[in-house]
Amino acid sequence: MKDFVYLDRSMELWTDIHANHKEAARQRALSLIAAGTRTETGCIVSNTEAIRKVRFIGAQFAAYRFIYCTLNDVTPSFEEVIRHRCHNRNCLNPDHLDIGNRADNKRDDRENWANGVDFDFL
Ligand SMILES: [Zn+2]
Repeated sequence: MKDFVYLDRSMELWTDIHANHKEAARQRALSLIAAGTRTETGCIVSNTEAIRKVRFIGAQFAAYRFIYCTLNDVTPSFEEVIRHRCHNRNCLNPDHLDIGNRADNKRDDRENWANGVDFDFL
């Protein structure tokens, strides 16, 4: 039953953010994006080598997940992942992010490996 506790906690957190911290979360997401560097392909990357993390109301998030869920009003379950359509895991551009499940994410990686990134899709 441990998994269920974790799932509830994640959704509870996002429900709280959307209900009570919406504007602060939005400002935080926008400032993360503004601090990034835009690349030739339109990605917005942070200057950190590892995936950018963000702390908000006492919890830690991957910055791209924080940005996607905040700006799109999404309450993700544990099974839902934020996908990078550009396949750049450091990218923070909300236009390059999409939601899917873990299987979608694996398929994205395989398609990218086979075909490369389709930038027309972005
Ligand atoms: Zn990107």
